[in-house]
Amino acid sequence: MTTEEEKALTEILEEHLNEEDLTLIYTPDSDDPPSPPSRNPHRKNRRWRQLNLKIKIIAGAVLLGLSAAAAASYYHLQYQNIETKATPQTESASASVTPAPAAPTATSAPAAPTVTPTAMPTSTPTPPALPREWNLILVNPWNPLPEDFTAELQTVENGHSVDARIAVYLENMLADARTQGLSPMICSSYRTMEKQQTLYANKVNEYLSQGYTQENAESEAGKWVAVPGTSEHQTGLAVDLVSSSYQILDQKQEKTPEQKWLMENSYKYGFILRYPNNKREITGIYYEPWHYRYVGYKTAKEIYEKGLCYEEYLETLK
Ligand SMILES: [Zn+2]
Repeated sequence: MTTEEEKALTEILEEHLNEEDLTLIYTPDSDDPPSPPSRNPHRKNRRWRQLNLKIKIIAGAVLLGLSAAAAASYYHLQYQNIETKATPQTESASASVTPAPAAPTATSAPAAPTVTPTAMPTSTPTPPALPREWNLILVNPWNPLPEDFTAELQTVENGHSVDARIAVYLENMLADARTQGLSPMICSSYRTMEKQQTLYANKVNEYLSQGYTQENAESEAGKWVAVPGTSEHQTGLAVDLVSSSYQILDQKQEKTPEQKWLMENSYKYGFILRYPNNKREITGIYYEPWHYRYVGYKTAKEIYEKGLCYEEYLETLK
């Protein structure tokens, strides 16, 4: 501090502070202590200035206090903001951490890179949602029935039963065929899971007895008798119809007048020939010129007119 600055400061202090203040704040190192007697003439004026200064100090202190409080609340708010901003991050961090424990299985197998293509929606050909309508349910070797599937049945003739909703169409179709002098008959209709298991096991045994291995016997049997859970007969929407004069389930069935009529007219009642010739690769089942499936008139008509199998028809809906 220079001499001029010291002098100026002394003047300011003397101007504004009383003796007590000065002794507290200002410790003179020179021989010019403020002499109380010399101040006597200005005592009254000084007192007023002292009061004024005290007010200023108090006001300053209040202002300082207020600013400190404001600053404190500002920082408090800031801190809160940081906290609130940080909270979701912490949550998301913990959320992103959560899958991590599952990762070791993927990590142990070097499957991590394969995850990325799966996550890309464009690169993965996702199969379209199958029709939800009850009459359009797709059941084939690749689309088994839901495990909780149930059918509400109605008995039609000769103890056979089908889905109650299709009974009238089946009865009308058979009745109309009979008015044409034909004699169609139902030889298979709704099957329980147990029934399907028995039929399938019988077919497998047939191949085993011919010397097939278990694997080959099951594979071959599945082409003739649907693997349990994948048979349309379990839906109640399918029937096997044969000529009463020829009740063998083989390709000769197509030569009977009953099949010829059914193949041409079944669509009018909402039925399709479900396993046409030369479509085994698509349907998974060999040609069955006796298996009819209810899909409803509109769909059956389109399938009949376009010469499609059911899987091909569903493709057209994509
Ligand atoms: Zn059948």
